[in-house]
Amino acid sequence: MLLRRHPLKTDGLQAPAQLLLCPSCRKKIASSATICPKCGATLGPGWQWQARKIADDLAASDRRLKRVAGYLVLGLGAYAWFRSIFDG
Ligand SMILES: [Zn+2]
Repeated sequence: MLLRRHPLKTDGLQAPAQLLLCPSCRKKIASSATICPKCGATLGPGWQWQARKIADDLAASDRRLKRVAGYLVLGLGAYAWFRSIFDG
């Protein structure tokens, strides 16, 4: 038996406005904004691209931070292990 697709209403089903980071204050604002509602900065054409780059940079530094934290935990673990061997 074939299921007949109901014609979908597209009104109100559109994806929510994408949120990007304001290049000025780095708060999340709608990608369609021309003026930042948070800090009032005027957003010139192409600011979305700039915002994505900022988001990418933030994500990259976050990954870097997590990696460093991982090494730190590993280092501390190794240190504790060595101590337990040589002091015990
Ligand atoms: Zn802003």
